[in-house]
Amino acid sequence: MTELTELTAVQQRKGLDEKKFSAVELCDAHLQRMEKFRSLNAYITETPELARERAANADRELAKGNGKALTGIPIGIKDLFCTEGVRTTAASKMLQNFIPPYESFITQKLFDAGAVSLGKLNLDEFAMGSTNGTSFFGRAVSPWRKKSNPAQELTPGGSSGGSAAAVSARLCAFATGTDTGGSIRQPAAFTGTFGIKPTYGRCSRRGVVAFASSLDQAGPIARTVRDGALALSVMSGYDAGDSTSYPAPAPDFLKNLTENVKGLRIGIPKEYRLDGMEQEIVKAWEDGVEILRSAGASVTEISLPHTEYALPAYYIIAPAEASSNLARYDGVKYGLRVEGADIHEMYENTRGEGFGDEVKRRIFIGTFVLSSGYYDAYYTKAQKVKTLINQDFKQAFEKVDAILTPSTPGASFGFDEKDNDPIKMYLNDVFTVTANLAGLPSASVPVRLNAEGLPLGLQVIGKPFDEQTTLNVCAALESGFAFRASPFA
Ligand code: GLN
Repeated sequence: MTELTELTAVQQRKGLDEKKFSAVELCDAHLQRMEKFRSLNAYITETPELARERAANADRELAKGNGKALTGIPIGIKDLFCTEGVRTTAASKMLQNFIPPYESFITQKLFDAGAVSLGKLNLDEFAMGSTNGTSFFGRAVSPWRKKSNPAQELTPGGSSGGSAAAVSARLCAFATGTDTGGSIRQPAAFTGTFGIKPTYGRCSRRGVVAFASSLDQAGPIARTVRDGALALSVMSGYDAGDSTSYPAPAPDFLKNLTENVKGLRIGIPKEYRLDGMEQEIVKAWEDGVEILRSAGASVTEISLPHTEYALPAYYIIAPAEASSNLARYDGVKYGLRVEGADIHEMYENTRGEGFGDEVKRRIFIGTFVLSSGYYDAYYTKAQKVKTLINQDFKQAFEKVDAILTPSTPGASFGFDEKDNDPIKMYLNDVFTVTANLAGLPSASVPVRLNAEGLPLGLQVIGKPFDEQTTLNVCAALESGFAFRASPFA
C-alpha cells in the first residue's frame, strides 16, 4: 500500500470510508513523519495525545456510519488561530504561554466536520513577513533544496511558512493559513502546494489573532486543488459573531469543481509584466495562457493601471491597522508582562521585550502614518488608492471572468539572501497584495520546477465571491501542467 502520508485528503477520506486503514493509523503515520522531519521546524506545538484521542473518536464515528466531510483527516493549524486549551502563540514571545479559553470559528468548523488537528504551525511573528524568518520560535524551513546548493536552507515563504512546509513535506493532509498580503499564496508558490485566499468575508475572522483587520482572510494550503476545494468548503460560511462575515451559506466547492474552462474569459494584466522578473516565471505564465486557451478559454490583455501603487498603499494600511490591533498587548489583559517601576515602565518593558524587530517596525510605521498631521497625507491617501485599485478590478471584470498572473516574481530563496533588507522583502508581495486590497478571491497553483528544481506558482484572481471559477481555472492549470513533483523525489 502507498504510504498513508502520500495520499491526498480526498484519497484519505475515501480510504477511511472503504476501511483500508483507520483514522488512528493515518494519524500515527503523520505523527511519525512529523518526528522524522522535526528539523523543518514546521510545528510550534505538536499535540499528539489530543490527535490520537480525536482520531480514535473519528474511528468510532466512522464505524457508526457517521462520517462527515473531514472525519479522520489529519490537519495542521497555523498558530494564529485560537484553539481552546491549546497554546496559541502567533509565533511571538508576547503570546508564548497564551492558552485561549475559546476556539476560533474556523477551527471549530473543521473539528465539527471531523478533522483531527496534529498541532499548531509556525509562521512569521503576528503573520508579518514573507519568509517565516521573524518567528520567535525560529524559522520554518522548506523541504525543497536548490540543485546547485543542496546544503542551503531555503524559506518556505511567509507568513504561513509552517503550513506550507508541513503540507509539502506531508506532515499533515492540509493546513489552515491566513493571508493579509499574500501569506497563503506566496508560501504555496514557494513549496509546490495549492493555496487559496477567499473573498474578504467568506471565512470568519473570529478567534484569529488580528494583524490588519480590513485585509486578513483565512484559507487553506493543500496538496491539490481538490483538497483545497474540500477544505475551503468546510472553512467558509456565515458567522454572526464577525461583523464582516458574508451572510450566505458556503457552497460545496468540491462538488462543483470542474476543469472545464470552455468559454471562460481570462485576463492578462499588462502591468504585471515587471522588469527583472525571473525568465522561467514569465515562461510558465505564457504556458499557462496556452493551456487555458487550448482548453477553450479566451485570453485577452487587460489593464489594472493602479497596480504600481498597491505595494506602497499596502505597507501603509497594513502597519496602520496592525499598530492599532497590537495595542491590546499591554501586559495587563493577557500575554507577557514584564514588571517595571510604574505602569508606564511596565508597558514599555512588556512591549519592548515581547515584540520582535519586524513587529516593532510595523508598529512604528503604523503609529506614524496614523498620527495627527500625517493621517491625511498617508492613511487617507492609501485608502483612496485602495478604492482606485478596487475600481481597476471592477472594470476589468466587466470584460473577463478571471485573471492570470504569476504568484511571485521569483522562486524560493535562502534566508540569508533577502532577510536583512526589508524593502527587498516587501517586493515579494507585489503580485499578491492587490487581491487583499480589493478583497478578491485569489489562489496560487503549482505549475512546474525551475532549473534549480524549485517550484513555481501561478496566481488566479476571481470576481467577488466567485471562488468557484477561481478554483476551476486552477484545476484546469493543474491538469494542464500535470505538476507532480515532491520535495523528496
Ligand atoms: N508578506 C506580507 C507582510 O509581511 C503579507 C503577510 C500576510 O499576508 N500575513 O505583510
